[in-house]
Amino acid sequence: MAAASFTCSPTDNPCAQCGEPIERPIWSEHGGDRMSFVWSCGGCGYQFTTIAIFRMPHPEQRRAAA
Ligand SMILES: [Zn+2]
Repeated sequence: MAAASFTCSPTDNPCAQCGEPIERPIWSEHGGDRMSFVWSCGGCGYQFTTIAIFRMPHPEQRRAAA
């Protein structure tokens, strides 16, 4: 399993309103160090957004260790 950088798209997220698992987000947007996902529940029609924040090492922090 290759560890690619931005492929951790979430799946089976439970609906924030009724708890029904949603197979995949209907929309996603990558911006800077985070990704936004929009979910639409097939059970109750509720839509909500989740945000995933990636912690990427900064070159300046790496340099400080030397
Ligand atoms: Zn729902």
